[in-house]
Parts: sequence; structure tokens; C-alpha cells
Amino acid sequence: MRYLVGTNIKMYLTGFEALEWIRNMNRDVSDTNLVDVALFPTFPALFEGRAAISKRNIGLGAQNIGFIERGALTGEISALSLKELGLTYAELGHHERRLYFNETDDRVRQKIELALSHGLKALVCVGEDQSRESDAPAFVSEQVGFLARDLALDNPADLIIAYEPRWAIGVDRPASPEHARYCCQAAREALIEALGPKGEMIRIIYGGSVREEDAKDMLALPSVNGLFIGRAALDTKSFAKVVNLAASQAAADLAERDKADRAKVARELG
Ligand code: PEP
Repeated sequence: MRYLVGTNIKMYLTGFEALEWIRNMNRDVSDTNLVDVALFPTFPALFEGRAAISKRNIGLGAQNIGFIERGALTGEISALSLKELGLTYAELGHHERRLYFNETDDRVRQKIELALSHGLKALVCVGEDQSRESDAPAFVSEQVGFLARDLALDNPADLIIAYEPRWAIGVDRPASPEHARYCCQAAREALIEALGPKGEMIRIIYGGSVREEDAKDMLALPSVNGLFIGRAALDTKSFAKVVNLAASQAAADLAERDKADRAKVARELG
């Protein structure tokens, strides 16, 4: 499976600053077919940002979409507009959308369906708050089950689940690898239950205060297929190193799978 490394730079940069950041990403990130890179800048940078990208593995997306296709929704941006701009991704259900804009899972689900129906890949944020930290896998399982159940999903690559424990966003360090591992595993099981075999192929990525120095351990977790990064991605060179680490991990996974396949054939041949 291709890994995915994404970044949402929220409202840290203005439109022109974000445009410069996109150009720097395009310069620094390597063009590898083992890792998809998803960039979520501020809206004004999306228009020219698309033309600033020449590497095939880099896709651009918006940090939110409106929950209807078109109409009286002041301040929102439609999935139609994103498609018109040639964007690849829509980020949905980020913790800050839930916290400051009262987004519920019902609303997020509506947006996922809308994004998919317009050919956008939906990167959907899930995760427990502090009060549910101790039974986080159960929380994640229920949330992912609700968001994914019976989705019309032609291609598993069109849905990405970003597991981001809310208490680990914007702090000094990420959740422990053990915590990330169990919760991403719970998300995987919920996806399989909700969508059958397709659920095995959906990328699950970890987000929440990841820095370059945390990336290797997180990427090595068997239940994690990439990372979602906020502040640390403002430094494009550092972000590019994380993409390279993800490419190494993806290559190691492929080699491992190859070895297992060959061992299976050898066993079958006696
Ligand atoms: C985020 O908000 O999704 C995020 C991962 O931010 P940070 O890395 O800054 O915690």
C-alpha cells in the first residue's frame, strides 16, 4: 500500500505565504511512487497553488468543504469549486472544526459522501478527547464505524482516516506509539466491519504533534500507513525528510510482503 503523508497548515500562513510554502514543498519533497503527499493550505493559496505543483505524488486539498453542493452557506466553499480547481483532497472533521464550528459526526459523514460523489479524496480526522483517552480504541471504533458504514467507495484510496487524538494536537509530543498502534488497529477493524475487504486497503495515518524525530517510530507501527502533520510541516525540508522516511518504510513493507509470498509459494511446492 502507498503511504500518505499529509499536512494541514491551518491559518498559520497568509495566502501568499502559503503559496511560497507550496512552491518550497514542490522543490523539497521527493517524487516517489511509494508515498502520496497531501497539502492543505489556506483557501486563497489553492487557486495558484495547483499550478505550482509539478510532482506527481503531491496533491492539494482544502481544509474543509460546505455540506451541500451549492446554495446559501455563507463562508463555506463547495466541493464543486474544489473540483473545478483540479484539487485532489478534502480534509474533513478536523478537531478544530468540531471544537470551534460545532461539527458533528453526522455533518462529517454528510461531507464525506459529498466529497466522494465529486471525485475528491476524503481525508477524515477522527479521535477521542481527553475524557475518553483510557477507552480510546472503543471510541475510535464506534466513530470510524459510523463514518464509514456502507459508504459508496469505488476506490479504497479515496478515503483516508487520520487518527488524531484531540489531546495530542498542538502540544509538545505525540501520543505514545503504543496508543497510536492500538487506536489505528481499532480503526482498521472498524473499517473492515463497515466496508468489507475494501476496509483493509484504506490508509490510516497518525496525526498529533508529530515532529521529524518521531516519524520513524510512528511509521514503523504495523497499523499506521502514514502521518498527518501540523506545525512541524511549516519547515518544508523537515517535512520532506518525513516523506523520505515514509518511502523507506513503504519499501520495507513491500520487501516483507514479497518475502512472505515467496515463502508461501515454497511451502505450497513442498
Ligand atoms: C493537526 O492539527 O492536525 C496537527 C497534527 O497539528 P500539530 O502537528 O501541530 O499537532
